[in-house]
Amino acid sequence: PVPVVAIDGPTASGKGTVAARLAERLGWHYLDSGALYRLVALAALRRGVPVEEVAMLARLARELEVRFAGDRIFLADEDVTEAIRTEEVSAAASRIAVHGAVREALLERQRAFRRRPGLVAEGRDMGSVVFPDAELKVFLTASVEVRAERRFKQLIDKGMSANIERLREELEARDLRDRERAIAPLQQCPDALRLDTSLMGVEEAVEVIFDWVRT
Ligand code: C5P
Repeated sequence: PVPVVAIDGPTASGKGTVAARLAERLGWHYLDSGALYRLVALAALRRGVPVEEVAMLARLARELEVRFAGDRIFLADEDVTEAIRTEEVSAAASRIAVHGAVREALLERQRAFRRRPGLVAEGRDMGSVVFPDAELKVFLTASVEVRAERRFKQLIDKGMSANIERLREELEARDLRDRERAIAPLQQCPDALRLDTSLMGVEEAVEVIFDWVRT
């Protein structure tokens, strides 16, 4: 089978950057599964579909016209790379992600990323549900203070305004929802290796996981 590295962890743990760099380094494909939940959320917000309309959301998820082109993400023909990163979409994505029917609708789409020579997949349930046979499972984490700080810097760098206390609260609310939902809750798989990046830069984290892949 095509090898998969599954990287799961809470919001702003550095998963995104670390997984993308690792994929580059290995010359493998990369799946940002959270982007799919964000795309469903964006489409729902725009159409006025409430976050509890499960059947309509699942349909949106199935019919989503998504294209990943390099580091840009398209919904139909529109570049929504920035639009899916707002706090409004983040909050809606985590509310939508509790529905089993939505998760089910996105399952095959995620598995389709598994192509030669390999895949680095990042999210909350990569190791537990989507790629349970992954050759390496990593649980990437960092303290809530560090994660709020990272999200704060990301927003400021993009010229957006942000309040670090609010960010921290929103982050904790999303994590709690991810951990306590009935279906595919965020938790460390028994066979996952844990990496705490609180005191570690991106390059160092990539290096550690790269070595794990190679051994
Ligand atoms: O990783 P990211 O923050 O972009 O994901 C957005 C939301 O999508 C998360 O808060 C989480 O609720 C949900 N998600 C999920 N399962 C995944 C990836 C993301 O439930 N594999």
